[in-house]
Amino acid sequence: MKKSVLLFLAFLLLASSCRRGDNDPRLIVISFDGLRWSEVFGGADSAMLARPDYVKDRHAAEKYWRQTPAERREALLPFIWSYVPGHGYLVGNRWLGSRMDMANRMWFSYPGYNEMFCGFPDDERITSNKAEMNANTSVFEVANRDPRYAGRVAVYGSWTIIKYALNCERGAFPASTGYDKSVARHPSEAIRLVDEMLEGMPVVWPRDRYDAFTYAYAKETLRSDHPKVMYISFCETDAWPHEKRYDRYLDAARKTDTFIRNIVETCESDPFYRGKTTYILLTDHGRGSGDDFKDHGSGAAGSGELFFAAFGKGIPALGEVENTPDYKGMQVAATISEILGLDFVPDNGVKQDAIHPEQ
Ligand SMILES: [Zn+2]
Repeated sequence: MKKSVLLFLAFLLLASSCRRGDNDPRLIVISFDGLRWSEVFGGADSAMLARPDYVKDRHAAEKYWRQTPAERREALLPFIWSYVPGHGYLVGNRWLGSRMDMANRMWFSYPGYNEMFCGFPDDERITSNKAEMNANTSVFEVANRDPRYAGRVAVYGSWTIIKYALNCERGAFPASTGYDKSVARHPSEAIRLVDEMLEGMPVVWPRDRYDAFTYAYAKETLRSDHPKVMYISFCETDAWPHEKRYDRYLDAARKTDTFIRNIVETCESDPFYRGKTTYILLTDHGRGSGDDFKDHGSGAAGSGELFFAAFGKGIPALGEVENTPDYKGMQVAATISEILGLDFVPDNGVKQDAIHPEQ
């Protein structure tokens, strides 16, 4: 009798410690800049595919158009739809009553990343994408101050401004964004080659490197350095729409899905990460539709709409959730804080609730 009570208590302790994150967790956060929830949950959009001003690749429909939304999303994001529902949950399918929105009113990148990672919208001070270090404290800074994660936080981002939005200088964690080279402490031969390739690439967008570089840097650094907290920020799902290329936007989403598959497979085949790692997928803003697809911001309806997914260690396998509370981007920092077992209080003094679609 006594023994069974003790066993039960031990079980409760274990269950709660998994959730609180004090069981030596690892966390990988991956963002797709400006990817709409409607493509995540419904695949390619027939109205956009039919526009010759947005689609130059004549194979685009063949690659991404299918009869049903379920088939279309699997064609676009095959890894996410084959893996995430069985290992976690996806929030933001508004057709099923699951909504997530930005709390800021700007609906572009710097305010979006600030809101998600610093835990509150700051529409007074953050009104542009300028290369200025963020005055607000991010959850990654707080992680890097914690002895469990100090020196084990790393950031790779395609968009130059990511390291400013996270204030990697004050936070004292390594971040390689835009045309920065790798920040691995133990650089492999492969990563040195990627450095040479980046230097040799034409600069197509002055503030964005191609996502393939960010992917290669992140994967190699996971293998060589074993960071416990990594943020990987992809940008092409935003860069191509600004060029009025719906076809390349779809290609970018498809390729990012493959990058994510490879990152998860790399981690789950490494004893340092296997079974100990939680993964988060998200976006910093949505975008408009029709003529407004190329844009986002307060003038483009729908740009404040988000999706969010979490899977892996400690995350219940709920699949695609329906009829959830309306979540906000600023709850992302609280969710990261909970997974890592931190006590994160946003600089506005208002703690948010972590995202818990199972409740
Ligand atoms: Zn943009």
